[in-house]
Formats: sequence, structure tokens, C-alpha cells
Amino acid sequence: MKNGNRVCAYAMICLIVLLALPDSGFSQDAGIAPFVRDAMKVLALERDAKDLGVLTNARHVRLGDKTTEQYVDILQALTGCTIGKGNLLFFNERPKNSLLVILAHRRTMQSVVIRYDGNQGKSTVLSLKDEDVEDPAFFLNAMPGASGKQTFHIVSLLSAWFAEAPYEFLQCAELHGHVCPGVILGYLTAKGIAAQYALLPGEQYIFIASPNECKDDAIQVILGLTPGKRNLIVKPVDIKKIKNTSETMITGVLIKWSESKGKGHGVVVGVDLGAIGAVSEIGQDKPRNLKVLAVRRLLERVADLSDVFSVVKEFPVTRELKEQLVNAGTNPYVLLGMMPGAANASVTH
Ligand SMILES: [Zn+2]
Repeated sequence: MKNGNRVCAYAMICLIVLLALPDSGFSQDAGIAPFVRDAMKVLALERDAKDLGVLTNARHVRLGDKTTEQYVDILQALTGCTIGKGNLLFFNERPKNSLLVILAHRRTMQSVVIRYDGNQGKSTVLSLKDEDVEDPAFFLNAMPGASGKQTFHIVSLLSAWFAEAPYEFLQCAELHGHVCPGVILGYLTAKGIAAQYALLPGEQYIFIASPNECKDDAIQVILGLTPGKRNLIVKPVDIKKIKNTSETMITGVLIKWSESKGKGHGVVVGVDLGAIGAVSEIGQDKPRNLKVLAVRRLLERVADLSDVFSVVKEFPVTRELKEQLVNAGTNPYVLLGMMPGAANASVTH
């Protein structure tokens, strides 16, 4: 009997130890795990809950000299959120920034922000309802140790998830590191290009991002263009001098190019601010609380805004014109006769 009791007690201890281990089975660096579990308790959400989402800058930041991709597996195992389900989201930040993990409840719009340095963590509970974020003081006081800018990044990115924005939009937001009216306009420009100027076999896009702004990160993601492949050309041009009587804001110059034919089709593209309304009232210099509210109103309409894509000018492109347009130092709008000045002397810095 005594022996039997001992076996029983041993079995119980084994069971308790097993239950105490994270169900992920991770034994190394699970230091962030208690913070994640506490956050789930605060949000009253279990693993795999349909309203649970995770946003993190893991993969993009480093802790000391270590990269942070292993935290993605830990978060996935603890929360049940995955890339495939669209509820494990990332955002790009400078490598030296702290590791941030934000757990959010889609229905209550409550969130817990965990800041982790590899040894120690700190959690902050944030309510992200309209009535909370419309307070100008929110961005100064909401997150101890974080700048208003970083708080804006987190709030705007979660707003896109709350609004159930398309996954490819969330990918644009990941690269850009926040959601602003600019990244929404870039997304709409790129979607408009893909719909109206679909590539035929043997064709490729070249986009001249001019002026270069937030929008261009979305264009890069949606059209698959990069400066390294020389199909996304970045030109900081001041376009105020372009005669433009409509409410269209020019976002760049597209070349749909066929190398085998040695010719292409050019389009000056833009977005119709009149059709959007709210964006025209929101500039980069507006307070963050107003910017977040404008972003939220725009995100609610992202799926219905396909008609805001606008074609300003179309023109045939020869090999010679293509070379001139992409050349460093040339102003594409002067070359196309849309603005006065010398084509190679109007690029501003
Ligand atoms: Zn931006």
C-alpha cells in the first residue's frame, strides 16, 4: 500500500509539473510567457479565442545582438494566433527599439501592451475606443516610457485590424510601421493600377514615386516593386507647381513596359480627394488624435473606395522616354509638359 501511495504521489507531481509547463513545450527563453498569459487574463480571452489578436515588432527589432524571430513561435503557441488566421500581425520598427507585443480584444477594443527587454517586461493596459483616443492627452500619457509617436503607431495598426482591413493592406501597414492617410492612399493607388492596368505576358510595372511619401510603401507591397530591382524609382519632387484644377492628388507616374516590344504605356496616376472627403482635412501636421480618427473612418470605407483612383494623363513611352523618366535628377512632370522649368533642374531635396 505504502509503495502504491508513493507511486501515486509521484504521478501527481509529474502531472502538476506537466500542467505548469507552457503548452507550447518551449523550454528556452519563455521569459515573456507570463506577461502574455497575464494579458490574456486581463482581456478575459482564452487561447484561440476569435476576438484575440496579437501585434508585435518581433522579427524587426533585436534584443542586444540577438534577432527576435523566436518570439513569434512563443506568441503563436500561447495565444493560438497565427499569420494564416490573420490575427498575428507585425510592424516594422528600428532594430534597436524594445520588443513590443500587444494583445488586443477586437470587440471590446481593450489591449495590453507588453514591453520586453530580454529579461524584464512591463505591461500597460490601454483602451482604444474612439472616446479614449480622441482625447489629445491620450498620446502623451497612455504608454509610460513610449513616445506619442510610438503610441500612434500601435493604435493606428490595431485600428486596421479592428476594422477587418484586407490582409494585403495589413502587409502594407507592416512595412510602413503605422497606418496613416498616406498609406491608405498608396494602397488605393496600387489597387487601382492593378485593376485598370493589369499586366499582359511579358510586361512589367515601373513606378516613379514622385513625390515620395508614406503612400510608396503600400505601392511597393501591392505591386511587388522595390528600389533594388529598379522598378520603384524614388524622386522627391515638389509638385505644387503642377497646374491641377481637379481635386486629384498626383501620387506618381506608372510605366507599363514591354521589354520585348521596346515600348510601353505611361500613366500619371492619383487619388480623387473629393471622393474621399476626410483625407483632404487631415495633413501630416494634424494632431495624432484627429489623425487616428480620420484613419478609422477611412478604414471603414477602404473596400468601397476603388473609385478614388484617378488617371491624370496617359502617354506612349519609347525606350528613350523611359530612360529619361527614370534617370536621377530629371523631373518627370517637367518632361511630360505638366509643369514649367528645366527637366533636369527641378528635383528638390
Ligand atoms: Zn505614414
